[in-house]
Amino acid sequence: MWRELRPLGRHPDSGGYRRFAWTPADAECRGWFEGQARLRGLVYEVDRNGNQWAWVGDPGAGDAVVIGSHLDSVPDGGAFDGPLGVVSSFAALDELRARGVEFTRPLAIVNFGDEEGARFGLACVGSRLTAGQLTKEQAHRLTDGDGITLPRAMETAGYDPDAIGVDSDRLDRIGAFVELHVEQGRALDLSGDRVGIASAIWPHGRWRFDFRGEANHAGTTRLVDRRDPMLSYAETVLAARREARLAGAVATFGKIAVEPNGVNAIPSLVRGWLDSRAADQESLDAVVTGVEQAAHAYAREHGVELDVVRESFTPVVEFDHALRDELARILGKEKDPALAVPVLGTGAGHDAGILSGRVPTAMLFVRNPTGVSHSPAEFAAEDDCVAGVRALADVVEGLAGK
Ligand SMILES: [Zn+2]
Repeated sequence: MWRELRPLGRHPDSGGYRRFAWTPADAECRGWFEGQARLRGLVYEVDRNGNQWAWVGDPGAGDAVVIGSHLDSVPDGGAFDGPLGVVSSFAALDELRARGVEFTRPLAIVNFGDEEGARFGLACVGSRLTAGQLTKEQAHRLTDGDGITLPRAMETAGYDPDAIGVDSDRLDRIGAFVELHVEQGRALDLSGDRVGIASAIWPHGRWRFDFRGEANHAGTTRLVDRRDPMLSYAETVLAARREARLAGAVATFGKIAVEPNGVNAIPSLVRGWLDSRAADQESLDAVVTGVEQAAHAYAREHGVELDVVRESFTPVVEFDHALRDELARILGKEKDPALAVPVLGTGAGHDAGILSGRVPTAMLFVRNPTGVSHSPAEFAAEDDCVAGVRALADVVEGLAGK
C-alpha cells in the first residue's frame, strides 16, 4: 500500500506531498482508496459530503465500528499524517481476516475529505459538514487562493456541491469511531512506547495583535522620538514564550504583517498572530491573559496603540471516557503494568475531534521518533507502524469481533 501511495501528489523538489482537496492529486488518492476497497470485496460508497466509505457488513444495520482517517495533506506535508490511519485500517482488516475474526457489528473504513484545509483555509470540512458544524451555505462561500470556490472545485472533481450538508442519518448508524494517527509530538518517544491512546484534544485559539505606532524615516528619526510598534511586538513574542513555559503550554507567533514594510522605515503597524494551545482551559487563559497584559505594558512604554482580537477558538475535546477505557482495557497488558498503553493529550485537531460531539470517538497514536509533522521529514518506523496495525486490529476485534 505504501509503495502505491508514495508517488501520489509528491512534489519532486521538496519531496513533500501536495494532496489538496478536489485536485488531481487528491483524485489519485481517492482512486487508490476505492481500489483498496474493491480489492477486498468491501461495499464502497461516497457520502453526500465527499467522504469515502468501505464497508464490511450492512452499512444500514447501525452501531457500526468505523476506523480510518484522511488522505489529503498540508503544503509539502509528510507521508504519514492521515495516510497512516487509512493504510493501517485496511491492514487491520487484513489482519482480522487472517485471524478468522467474524464481526457482530458492521465495520467501515473511512477517508474523510479535506481534513487539512490546505486549499480553502478551514480544516476538517468533510467531517464538519457531516456533523453539522459547517453549513452548506458557509461551505459554499469558501474560496481557495486562486479564487476558485469550494462548490466549483467539487464540481470539477465530479461531485455535487448542492448535496452537501449535515448527515445525521449516517452518524446515527455509527456506534464508535477510532482514528489511528501518527503522533505529532514526542511523548511516545520519550516514554518509550510504540502506541498510545488519546485523552483529549487541547483547547486552542488564534489571537491577532495590532500594534500601531508612527511611520517615520529610519535614518533621521532620533530613537527617543520614535513610536516603533516593532519593539513592543518583539517584546510580546518573548512574553509569549515565557508565559507558555510557565503554564506548560505552547504559544507561537508564526505570522506577521508589517506596514509600510520598508527596510528604511519605522513601521506604522505590526500585526502578529498568536496561536496558543494548552492541556486545559485554565492554562490557556493564563497564557493569553499574561501575553495580553505584557503586550499592553510594552505598547504603553513605546507610545504604541494595541488592539487584541480573538479570531478563532476551539474548546477542549474530551474523547468518550467509556470508549477510551475500553481501548485501554483491550490494549493494556494488565499483568505487566510496564506494558500498559499510555494515555496522552494532543495539541492538533482531527476529524475524530469533530465527530466526538456526535459519536463515541477515540484515537490511537503511533510513535513519531522526531515529533516532526506537517513536513517531509515526518516519520514512523516500520515496527511501530506494525504495532499500530495490531493495536487497531485488537481494538476492532474487542469492539466488534465474536
Ligand atoms: Zn492528520
